[in-house]
Amino acid sequence: MAHRHTTVIFILAAKTILLVSAQLRPEDYRLPELYTPSSYEIALDLAAEAFTASSNEFSGTVTIRFSFINITDYIALHSQHNFITISKITFNSTEVLSGNYSINNVTDILTINVGHAITTGITYDLVIEYTGVLSTGDMYGLYKSSYVDSNGLTKYLVTTQFAATFARRAFPCFDEPALKTTFDFSVTFPTGLNVLFNTQQYSSVSNATTGESALLWDQNESSNRYQQRVVTVVAHELAHQWFGNLITFKWWSEIFLNEGFATYFEFHITHEVLPAWELDKQFVIEEVHQALLGDALENAHALQSPTTTPAEISSKFSIISYSKGGSVLRMVEHFMRLDNFRAGLQRYLNQL
Ligand SMILES: [Zn+2]
Repeated sequence: MAHRHTTVIFILAAKTILLVSAQLRPEDYRLPELYTPSSYEIALDLAAEAFTASSNEFSGTVTIRFSFINITDYIALHSQHNFITISKITFNSTEVLSGNYSINNVTDILTINVGHAITTGITYDLVIEYTGVLSTGDMYGLYKSSYVDSNGLTKYLVTTQFAATFARRAFPCFDEPALKTTFDFSVTFPTGLNVLFNTQQYSSVSNATTGESALLWDQNESSNRYQQRVVTVVAHELAHQWFGNLITFKWWSEIFLNEGFATYFEFHITHEVLPAWELDKQFVIEEVHQALLGDALENAHALQSPTTTPAEISSKFSIISYSKGGSVLRMVEHFMRLDNFRAGLQRYLNQL
């Protein structure tokens, strides 16, 4: 379902040194706890050909400013080899020779050996120039989509879906929720086109936008059920501005906090605004019952369960995380009483 995912509006060839690991441990998929990123500058260049059927290529430069928590001699970050081909890496104004970096094509981890000890307490610049491929086979990362206009002409657009682990398809980055920081995006694009951002600055995770199918409503054509869906999708995605963007779980094993709160507010806020729709009662049918059905399956996972690989992370976007997560939070609201629940959340948010 479209509203079950988060997206960002945006815009991606691949030759890199590849390593294939035989036996990977869960920790091999995680970045070392060595870095504190402070900002990204991302410049993407989309030529006119990218908006035709003939080319899916683009180029980009990402500048990452970060400091080190511990002394080390290497940098590890994410870059997806099917979509990103690195042409040049510069660390603190010194070019890193191509023999000193490599990408693991299973874990998507780009390892850069800088050849000397890096000290803590200093902000460093890492600049990566690359060419990329726009995804056309799925709607993840920086992908190309199309529509037919009123004259019957096919028009192309480029957009993004970065959650959960797809920002690494658009630009090399520390693609983990705990390493959240600010982004500055600039885009070079052909005249006659427009670029839309959903915020001036946004985090590495969970930028809430949704597909047009969940937004287009026609008073004369659409059903009441569909109208309700459009309203609740908007409420869900708005809730992510706080529960997801402002507050972010450290790791994907706690995704239920993100989607549980957004599911809870999807109904709760809409009920506050439109009580005649009785979404407080609908929650029981739509979410609690679904959670019970999902939880009865043999393959049901716990709300909080070990999660490592990108495939495992994707599988956590489940009825358990959404419906059971929302149901448990509603249960907490009921035993605490709404005023206490609300005051507690407000106090937590105000402490940030
Ligand atoms: Zn959501």
